[in-house]
Amino acid sequence: MPRRPAHAPSLPRRPSRAPRLSRRPRSPRREVPAPVGDRLQQALDALTRAGVLDALSAYGPVVAGTIPLGIDTSASDIDVLCEARDPVAFVRDALRFARLPRFALHRKDDADPPAIVCRFEAEGLPVEIFAQPLPVTVQRAYRHMLAERRLLRIAGQGAVEAIRHLRASGLRTEPAFAEHLALTGDPYLALLDLADRSDAELAATVAHGRRVRDACPFCRIVEGGEASVVHADPCALAFMNLRQGNPGHVLVVPRRHIPTVFDLDPETAAGIARAVARVARAVRAAFAAGDLNVWQSNGVAAGQEVDHLHVHLLPRRAGDGLFQVYPPDTPPPPRPRGELDDLAARIRRAM
Ligand SMILES: [Zn+2]
Repeated sequence: MPRRPAHAPSLPRRPSRAPRLSRRPRSPRREVPAPVGDRLQQALDALTRAGVLDALSAYGPVVAGTIPLGIDTSASDIDVLCEARDPVAFVRDALRFARLPRFALHRKDDADPPAIVCRFEAEGLPVEIFAQPLPVTVQRAYRHMLAERRLLRIAGQGAVEAIRHLRASGLRTEPAFAEHLALTGDPYLALLDLADRSDAELAATVAHGRRVRDACPFCRIVEGGEASVVHADPCALAFMNLRQGNPGHVLVVPRRHIPTVFDLDPETAAGIARAVARVARAVRAAFAAGDLNVWQSNGVAAGQEVDHLHVHLLPRRAGDGLFQVYPPDTPPPPRPRGELDDLAARIRRAM
């Protein structure tokens, strides 16, 4: 039988007392979250009464995810990690939950190694069981949680509240940490890397995030600072530019602190592009502005004033004298094809 990690929030094997029905239902309107221990116990109670714990006892189940960290929202799953060496046996046991509402079972092939994921509701609470043929302590979700718990302990209650705010606005847990700490690159890999670091290195990471947020006006807006917000989604935020080149001048920024286009990952790039297209159409409709520049600058020579990638959506009127690609009186002449082919080849070699 898999060993249960001693320092993990472990599940009891069977109910230690009679069901306490008075604990339910949770108030969906509660603004101040209950203490972590209460919510964890509530999750354990629901799993116990639904018979989930007994059914999974051979797989060393561990509650992970946001509830043990105290950054859960009303929509958070109860995440349970399992070590399942025999997937056929695990599926057979998981099918015992098929009687529960919203039951679904699937194989997750993009996990390494592939996982089995089982979802259902227990007493109205969404549950996700994640099983891999690996000890829970080396599974990514568990290592993420360990890194996140240490980071929150070092960063303090302000970080708990900031990350809960980011999650409530639609971010998943690891992207929310990456945003708060100003981590670059893939958030999931960045958190895994932090799981292996010392407390001193985590403290340096927390301090780096704090410095970036303190220095960056757009990060402050992302974390709830004052702005006239137009659009918000898990990747991007759009708000009115302080200076209105023409009425309707909007900035679209990634939620994460990404300084320039050179730092942009494909997923964020796609999210920014979606937000730009959507907001651009709304600006055109709202201001009867037929024409519009989509404009983005990288580096001082290019005119970038804030070191957090931002895309200007600037409605244009004929003769407004704003942004021009070329000096209007002296545009550069067209270049010969051979010269353009040489330039193109130079860039292709760098791709
Ligand atoms: Zn920023």
